[in-house]
Amino acid sequence: MSNNKWESFVRRVEPYIPGEQPGDANVIKLNTNENPYPPSPAVKRILDDFDCGRMRLYPDPNSEVLVDAVAEYYGLKPSQIFVGVGSDDVISMAFLTFFGSHKPVLFPNITYSFYDVWAEVYSIPYQTKPLREDFTIDPDDYKGENGGIIFPNPNAPTGVLESVDMIDEIVRANPDSVVIIDEAYIDFGGESCLPLIEKYDNLLVVQTFSKSRSMAGMRIGFAMGNEKLIKYMNDVKFSINSYTMNHLTQLCGAEAVKDDTYFRETTAKIITTRERVKLRLRELGFTFTDSKSNFIFAAHSSMAASEIFSKLKKRKIYVRYWNKPIICNYLRISIGTDEEMDRLFEALEDIINE
Ligand SMILES: *Cc1c(COP(=O)(O)O)cnc(C)c1O
Repeated sequence: MSNNKWESFVRRVEPYIPGEQPGDANVIKLNTNENPYPPSPAVKRILDDFDCGRMRLYPDPNSEVLVDAVAEYYGLKPSQIFVGVGSDDVISMAFLTFFGSHKPVLFPNITYSFYDVWAEVYSIPYQTKPLREDFTIDPDDYKGENGGIIFPNPNAPTGVLESVDMIDEIVRANPDSVVIIDEAYIDFGGESCLPLIEKYDNLLVVQTFSKSRSMAGMRIGFAMGNEKLIKYMNDVKFSINSYTMNHLTQLCGAEAVKDDTYFRETTAKIITTRERVKLRLRELGFTFTDSKSNFIFAAHSSMAASEIFSKLKKRKIYVRYWNKPIICNYLRISIGTDEEMDRLFEALEDIINE
């Protein structure tokens, strides 16, 4: 069995580990930053009216109905929008398209744990830059030679938001490489750096329908940038798989983005809950960054995060925990409904006072 020759030609990678998706419907799921509210009712209408016979046909490879809706919503031209199967697909395409230099791509040491996985799978050199003590990014770390830059804003899993001015400073210092800002959580109170794409042709802004638009299961992400960037991404995409996004998803995504009222209502509710959660967590002895996302990254003053994590899990409350340096005493707690958060507080009270 050992020493199969073909195995020496295998592209070996250590895969990304997604948060758990338990089969048990009674679990309170605060571990993958999903939105606790359903998608816009307009999405439900599309599903109800969908003609199954349409599945015979390949979908529109350009996802025009969705691209047009996103372009309209953000006041851009359709040629400035790239859509993909979740922003994971979009960012992976962007790595493949833009990070072809031999210089290292830069990202923070504490960040979305998919970036190093994509760099590895595509054999892209990379270098991580340590966050400051307070988990903020030092812009000076991103001014040396590099083959590209990527970070989320707000950052994950810390929830820390950086200013548009700071992003402007980093993009300005890097005219020779593509800078990708992953705005997966920007709709929860942050200011998007999107206006900067008119100023810089090398800035790509990536967003997703998975968090603020309640559609993690549909898999829709998109990138916005200069037409040239978008064209290069589409060239790569069409060289791998033209039909990435299915027809039904394109229709549902377009309806979701048009329903701005619902979007504003649900994101506002999550922000209100988040601020309430901050007050209560503080009373319970937690410290945390001032999150501008739909999760809170919190450490307890006297009890180890790993212990709280397992005790919550026993009570069927799932949060996210990483046994990694620097962050091993933190829990990432997604913001659920008010009822779900109240159940969390009851459980935490029990666990901490046990
Ligand atoms: C959730 C998340 C994504 C990916 O989301 P998709 O579901 O693939 O759209 C990308 N970046 C960050 C930082 C995330 O937290």
